[in-house]
Amino acid sequence: MTEKLQRGTRLVVASHNKGKVWEIHQLIAPYGLDAVSAGDLGLAEPDETEPTFEGNARLKAVAAAKGSGLPALADDSGLEVECLGGAPGIYSARWAGPTKDFGLAMKMVAEEVASRHGWSDPGPRANFISVLCLAWPDGTTRVFEGKVFGHLVWPVRGGNGFGYDPMFVADGESRTFGEMEPEQKYAISHRTRAFAAFKAACLDGRGAASAPPNARRADAAGLEAAAANISTEAELAAFVANLSRDLAAYPEAWTSDTLGAFLDRLAAALGSRGPAEPPSRAVAKALLAASGRS
Ligand code: IMP
Repeated sequence: MTEKLQRGTRLVVASHNKGKVWEIHQLIAPYGLDAVSAGDLGLAEPDETEPTFEGNARLKAVAAAKGSGLPALADDSGLEVECLGGAPGIYSARWAGPTKDFGLAMKMVAEEVASRHGWSDPGPRANFISVLCLAWPDGTTRVFEGKVFGHLVWPVRGGNGFGYDPMFVADGESRTFGEMEPEQKYAISHRTRAFAAFKAACLDGRGAASAPPNARRADAAGLEAAAANISTEAELAAFVANLSRDLAAYPEAWTSDTLGAFLDRLAAALGSRGPAEPPSRAVAKALLAASGRS
């Protein structure tokens, strides 16, 4: 029997990835659950050593649940390309290298398909997969899976989303995930499907107490998560458009209230650039820092 998660439960999101923690928080908050990240609790991030999505999701969830004494939710996800035998699969994040450059990762996928099979239209069949694992401190686990099927396109299209979104078209759609508005992607995504299975089993099928997550709602954490996932110029352009909408909607949240303050902060942010990362991501982070968005 699966124990249900009661309202008010503190749930550890077993990830150090800000984007993932923010997204899972958006999904569970309307159900009266409070998300805290494994990183914020100072828990170490285990290596993903298992050969399957399920194994890795379980490994992360169990480590966080045992380390915190709280129920923990982990997700492992990726892109599977049929003619590549399911690659990049569990290595989806690793194909992007240490700087997590998904512009390069998408190019590698396209080149691998072209060199092994030749690229024909429509592009190769592929799917995204998300596996969620809920673990309890006693080591009990439940696993939920969601997939979305479609095909790949080249060259990539669109600046929304993250990761491999600009090269994936879901069945029945003509736009890539990178060209869709976030709500449209989330309506059909692998993660939403896995979450629906989790919700049915662990949230008592109860309705949301507050408004459902609005993937477009910009807040400081959401903008930070979006900037951290940028790899291409098209994604940077979409981010700048979002920043502009944010300024129009929440001018009081921009503590840089003059152009001079904005430029001073921009100069400081560009001058203290961190480790090598795609230039589009560095610019997005600098613009966000310059805004002083609170
Ligand atoms: P992990 O689950 O953190 O190991 O990483 C999964 C990787 O799969 C991400 O870094 C993305 O590259 C890719 N991925 C997972 N879900 C999506 C998605 O919704 N869109 C695009 N790429 C995704």
